[in-house]
Amino acid sequence: MDFPTQLFLNGEWKDASNGATFDVVDPATGEVIAQVADATADDVRAMVEAAVAAQDEWAATPAVERAAIMHRAVRIFEDRIEELARLLSREQGKPLAQAVGEMQYGVGFIDWFAEEARRIHGSTIPATTRAKRIITIRQPLGVTACITPWNFPSLQILRKLGAALAAGCTMIVKPAELTPLSALEIARVFDDAGLPPGVLQVATSNDAPTVSAVFMADARVRGISFTGSTEVGKILMRGAADTMKRVSLELGGHAPFIVFADADMDLVVREAMAVKLRNMGQTCVSANRFFVHEDVAEEFGDRLATEFRKLIVGNPLDDGVDVGPLVEEAALVKVEAHVADALEHGARVVLGGSRVDTGADSRLFFEPTVILDADDSMLLAREETFGPVAPIFTFRDEDEVVRRANASDYGLAGYFFTRDLNRAIRVAERLEYGTVGLNDAQISAVQAPFGGVKQSGIGREGGPLGVDEYLDTKYLSVGGL
Ligand code: NAD
Repeated sequence: MDFPTQLFLNGEWKDASNGATFDVVDPATGEVIAQVADATADDVRAMVEAAVAAQDEWAATPAVERAAIMHRAVRIFEDRIEELARLLSREQGKPLAQAVGEMQYGVGFIDWFAEEARRIHGSTIPATTRAKRIITIRQPLGVTACITPWNFPSLQILRKLGAALAAGCTMIVKPAELTPLSALEIARVFDDAGLPPGVLQVATSNDAPTVSAVFMADARVRGISFTGSTEVGKILMRGAADTMKRVSLELGGHAPFIVFADADMDLVVREAMAVKLRNMGQTCVSANRFFVHEDVAEEFGDRLATEFRKLIVGNPLDDGVDVGPLVEEAALVKVEAHVADALEHGARVVLGGSRVDTGADSRLFFEPTVILDADDSMLLAREETFGPVAPIFTFRDEDEVVRRANASDYGLAGYFFTRDLNRAIRVAERLEYGTVGLNDAQISAVQAPFGGVKQSGIGREGGPLGVDEYLDTKYLSVGGL
């Protein structure tokens, strides 16, 4: 399969200026699938110059024309979706059907934001005197940069890029070092769709601090959008202070999944399956802590284990595989440490708990795992596990479970299940999470404002609020009338 491996700089494919490359490895086989250009600081500086040069013209391009390019990109994505999904699956490890789903969802953002571009408008506000008028206009922030994680190599970029392009901003993308190939494919699609040089550029790199130092130091880069760990989000927020850049941060999560005794257990099990094992549990909105009422905890554990047992672990490109490898050895080590710690503290493994030998060279496969008798002293109660492990904690009453669910520095997504209307309203209001699923754990929607509170981040992605992240509001005071 032919795919780009060079930097995408000012509309051209280029090697790194010092010729350096880094390897991209298929986590399912351990095979090196590509050597990708490793951008130098000079390369990134050249991208900033190109973005600055392209910015005014892109901002002045009528929204319908920007939208037309975005819609052309959508059609190209649709034509290439199977091929792009295979590449995504190879570099990241999610089963092919999920990779297709990620591509469709991501491309949906480009489509939705293309429509939204024509609805970016200002306002008139009644003035206090006859001689004045107050008008607001909304203008693009300017040159922006984004840094994205490996777990959704396409989606994380498309969600940011769609909003930036709709608003009239240029964007330099620094994808995760583990999954740069999908980012380069996105650049190729937009290039083919006729996006002008410098509007989108991709700086693949194995040295994120070097690349981000260039963005951070340059006052002309007006916004930085980041998805990844809270730790790196804090570094970027501190760095943004010197030039007062806008920051948009989508950070870690530690989602509670609360099951009250009156919940519809068929629905609960279905949603638990979907939210726990998507991408092998490596998502920021994965349910990490299953708080289940003590009357139904054993039943939930048994039913979840029954469903997990049916899943096939293996190469994500093989037919029928539900669970692929984790992304790298460090991820496995963390999952193993969480399970071992839980066992030491008295938890019971109902199913799984170990690596799986699939016969491949890769040792990155972990069994879907169900753990009962988890408690709040365990590592998996405090840290993101980022793996296919479902720990079940029991609770007795509503106040207790809300307090325990909120006992986290994170506040990204939370889910709860009940058929009691009054309780539904009370709990929805009290959960300290930016995104709450009520009898629902599949919360992804292009038109909805996704994001976190507390240390899960700042800002929203998706929907009209997603575009706001890339706009400034100018207040125009008109006198002398
Ligand atoms: P990470 O923070 O290590 O890496 C994310 C990106 O930041 C990568 O591109 C990486 O190269 C870059 N990076 C690393 N160190 C940097 C530095 N010092 N300066 C600038 N950039 C740097 O996170 P990860 O391990 O790739 O991703 C997993 C984390 O991302 C989890 O915490 C997960 O919850 C979070 N996440 C959040 C969301 C969300 O929408 N809130 C979505 C997906 C993942």
